[in-house]
Amino acid sequence: MTIRIRLTLLFGLLVGSILMLFSVSVYYLYNQFREQEFQKRLVERAITTVRLRDDVGDIPAGDLPVLADEQITIYDQQGRVLFSLGKVSGRYPVTPSFLRHVSAGQTPYIRQGDRETIGVRYVSASKRVLVSVASAYDRYGFSKLERLRTILLFGWLLCLFIVAIAGYLFASDALRPVAELIDQANTISATNIHKRLHVGRQRDELADLAGTFNELLDRLEKAFVSQKSFVSHASHELRTPLTVMMGQIEVTRLQTRSTTDYETAFDALLDEVKNMIRLVNGLLELARANTGFPNLLPKYPVRLDELLWQAQSQLIHKKSDYQIDIDFDDLPNQEDDLVVMGDESLLQTAFLNLMENGCKYSPSHAVTVRLAFQPQQVQITVSDQGYGIPPQDLPNIFEPFYRSDSTMTVSGHGIGLALTKRIINIHQGTIDVESTLGQGTTFRVCLPNRVAADTSATSALVSTRDVTALPEH
Ligand code: ADP
Repeated sequence: MTIRIRLTLLFGLLVGSILMLFSVSVYYLYNQFREQEFQKRLVERAITTVRLRDDVGDIPAGDLPVLADEQITIYDQQGRVLFSLGKVSGRYPVTPSFLRHVSAGQTPYIRQGDRETIGVRYVSASKRVLVSVASAYDRYGFSKLERLRTILLFGWLLCLFIVAIAGYLFASDALRPVAELIDQANTISATNIHKRLHVGRQRDELADLAGTFNELLDRLEKAFVSQKSFVSHASHELRTPLTVMMGQIEVTRLQTRSTTDYETAFDALLDEVKNMIRLVNGLLELARANTGFPNLLPKYPVRLDELLWQAQSQLIHKKSDYQIDIDFDDLPNQEDDLVVMGDESLLQTAFLNLMENGCKYSPSHAVTVRLAFQPQQVQITVSDQGYGIPPQDLPNIFEPFYRSDSTMTVSGHGIGLALTKRIINIHQGTIDVESTLGQGTTFRVCLPNRVAADTSATSALVSTRDVTALPEH
């Protein structure tokens, strides 16, 4: 059901109920008023008749009933009928107790169907107590009441009809800006993702909604553009070594060469292939780190000191001139302080990248890794005394394929830091960098240790238990 129909129905229901309440109250109050009026008329008739009978001794023959179906009966104190006017029907509601009440000075009123009856006490000139009972049918009162009921019913139906139409128009008018927003949003697709919704000058909820939607589009556009540039960068990085290899093969094939020449050419080709494999591996790792949600990544306890030693030996095995020092600021209080929950191979890739960069971008090829322990986290700093990063490049170095112009002479593809940042982020850690041109660079990584991970897992468990412990309704 659309909001427009729902609003119309709600509006109709609300106004219809209020009008119904009003109509019922009017009808009820008018009925009470009619009843009181008619009682007064019955009392008047009862008294006039008994007084006439007492004064004149008899009712003149021409005195016809004034009220519809009128019956007036006069009784003495013993309940004997002294006089009766009108036709007495079998359902006449006067009982001895009714007469007793009247004799005692009360004015009892009875309504039986449409017939209403009232009794009055009258003391004659000769001090005789008489009871006069008047009973009749309020023809005019009831016909007016019926007319009122018809008017109220039709008036109510008419109002309901008008309210339904007015409600529908009102809801359509109120929802028109929403329909416009939907139309505008429907025109936005991948080909015109730069397009935005018109926010308007009014600062209302719909303007907020349009603003929020535009912010979402901003983020999507950014992701879209970076995705596009990622693909073009990746293709470019892959094409360059392939072009080089093709050139080398073509040049080698121009003439018959000596075995040594072929070996040299193959070595050069092998270097390019290794380079490509490194790039493809980096891209695969980046894709692996980017797929899925961090919470779905299986996490196991990883001892950071062991991980760093392994990374160190791997790197030295690859480049024997690299020098990596690992220092502990102070010893941890307990073994758990050294342990983080995560994916060992991903974490190793991250620290390998940082160590390799430190060695690669410093003439001494030396890097110092320092571990510091805090109650809930481990801090790892990787510092070198190398070329440093120009301040204008610092905000971009974590972007995929970004390479500083100052280090273009050193081989690389620009995906190591992007991958490292992503890995640290999916481990709920942070990474930041400080660098001074010509003096060196320090990368600082903070990772929550096992104690912190256990605490957050327990609190997540407690909150899940809280939810499941809620009573079912
Ligand atoms: P790559 O090293 O393959 O170029 P990275 O993503 O690891 O790619 O690094 C991106 C860029 O950041 C590098 O090209 C370099 O300019 C800069 N950089 C990273 N680490 C250092 C460092 N320790 N010293 C100086 N520059 C660095």
